[in-house]
Amino acid sequence: MIGRFAPTPSGALHMGSLVAAMASYLAVPADGRWLLRIDDIDTPRNVAGSAERIIRQLDALGFQWHGEIVWQSRRLERYRSALDQLRRQDLIYACECSRKTLSGVADSGPQGIVYPGFCADKGLPEHGNALRVRVPDEDICFDDQCRGHICENLHDSTGDFIVRRRDGVYAYHLATVVDDADAGVTQVLRGADLLDSCGRQIHLQRCLNLPTPAYAHIPVIRNAHGQKLSKQNMARELDESEPLPLLLEAWRLLGQKALVEAPVSVAEFWSAARRFFDLAGC
Ligand SMILES: [Zn+2]
Repeated sequence: MIGRFAPTPSGALHMGSLVAAMASYLAVPADGRWLLRIDDIDTPRNVAGSAERIIRQLDALGFQWHGEIVWQSRRLERYRSALDQLRRQDLIYACECSRKTLSGVADSGPQGIVYPGFCADKGLPEHGNALRVRVPDEDICFDDQCRGHICENLHDSTGDFIVRRRDGVYAYHLATVVDDADAGVTQVLRGADLLDSCGRQIHLQRCLNLPTPAYAHIPVIRNAHGQKLSKQNMARELDESEPLPLLLEAWRLLGQKALVEAPVSVAEFWSAARRFFDLAGC
């Protein structure tokens, strides 16, 4: 089994990201591999120094990843070739619609605007425009280890979606499916806030002839106000100088039973966590 953790370097790790990292780490058995990837494809959103800080935090918290860290920003050539593959199958087209043009005329769903295909047959030049991938009007289904059987019809939920933005940045979904496949990732375990990206990612996997990994989406950690812990709502940065209490807190938030013998070191925590981790209740 090969799992991975793929933080976005728009800030340091907070408790929500630690919980996701811990679950994906423990879900990989001792003879499997756990990979670390920095999802820094969206360069305008990157915060200088965040990636290095995240790596230091993970290291201090006792995570051990296999092999070299993968940086999305260094893999643009791979994404370009995936886009070529889609273009050869006539699966992408250029779109000149701005958010403003679409708001008011396009339906809006839980995942934002449902693109109505205005530019699908216009044959617009790619340069200076966004690129969208065509989606089928049929259910895409998969079995999530935590959420059960899930189906999504992309035609109704997102419409043809963007794979390269107008500013030239490759979309997260495209980069992610290419990276996971290239690294041989067999299990994607992440927060349930990313559940609605599965339909789009599975569609891209099928278009690109890539395997679909097993998916598990764990509950999102919320603060006392019921908001998802995220960098956007100022979730507190983790102070990795005291790693053990952070690990125990993340363990508790993961819904795991309290460890009978309280660990006194990071190494002891991980050896106990490996023995008792149980994803069954997710
Ligand atoms: Zn358009």
